[in-house]
Amino acid sequence: TKNSGRNGFSFYDSTMSEGAGERLRLEQDLRGAVQRHEFILHYQPQLALGTRELRGVEVLCRWHHPRLGLLSPDQFIRMAEEIGVIDELGAWVLEQSCRQMARWDREGFRVPRLAVNLSVREIERADLVDQIKSILQRTGIAPQRLELEVTESMIMRRADAAIATLMSLRALGVTLAVDDFGTGYSSLAYLKRLPLHRLKIDRSFVEKLTEDSNDDAIVRAIIALGRSLGLETLAEGVETQEQADFLCREGCDEGQGYLFSRSATAATLAAGWLV
Ligand code: C2E
Ligand code: CA
Ligand code: CA
Ligand code: CA
Repeated sequence: TKNSGRNGFSFYDSTMSEGAGERLRLEQDLRGAVQRHEFILHYQPQLALGTRELRGVEVLCRWHHPRLGLLSPDQFIRMAEEIGVIDELGAWVLEQSCRQMARWDREGFRVPRLAVNLSVREIERADLVDQIKSILQRTGIAPQRLELEVTESMIMRRADAAIATLMSLRALGVTLAVDDFGTGYSSLAYLKRLPLHRLKIDRSFVEKLTEDSNDDAIVRAIIALGRSLGLETLAEGVETQEQADFLCREGCDEGQGYLFSRSATAATLAAGWLV
């Protein structure tokens, strides 16, 4: 079918053996959940590594399943793409989180930037730019405060179409970050052509920083690459002070991870930050 996706169902091969019925049921649940908005948004701070000031928050979606409890995005985003509901889910996430930014503004909790993950399906959609534009207008959030996170593979898969979309988004004023940088296969030529702002160094390289000299070298190289292309760098999954110190010393601009804060609901985050 139209919604079965380029990648087929490969991701679900293992669960298929437990029964196609179970998968079908989860798909139906997900369709309903998107209609009823059974999702919860968590936010995770992104900080300046030098001063620890709050630079932004990343929105992370959870599915509050009535039977299975809180499900992580790794358990449903791919399925949402395959059954064709990711556009609706993505639009809801964007609108809710922009509303939340406006609420924080009114409450005096100033979050400079909102970072939202885009899925590959969304970036391939012709009306994405118009949709984002109208959400920003409706919620009164300045485009400059919205950052969209895209992965290398998303950019490379349908490079020309993706580039056109990214150019229009940039023209709108939103900024763009490359998520999970270093894990995909991006050509450096594309990095130069794209209107990017930030490289997000993947957590897998940050994990063994100062313990594995290969990872130290990779992270140094990404920071240097960012610098020479005029891009900011943000390290994901910072869990220890040693990692933060290394990153700061090497000139990485921002960090995100359990060392600073886990992801939390909007209320928890504001309460913790305002004390
Ligand atoms: P991501 O964009 O790479 O998000 C970072 C993930 O790392 C999050 O997992 C976050 O909770 C986790 N994390 C943050 N700091 C640390 C740390 O210090 N240590 C460790 N071990 N993990 C950390 P989460 O929330 O399960 O999200 C998984 C992925 O799902 C995200 O990866 C993102 O690609 C996707 N995702 C989440 N929300 C959305 C959404 O609204 N739309 C789309 N399209 N994708 C989403
Ligand atoms: Ca992300
Ligand atoms: Ca990431
Ligand atoms: Ca990831």
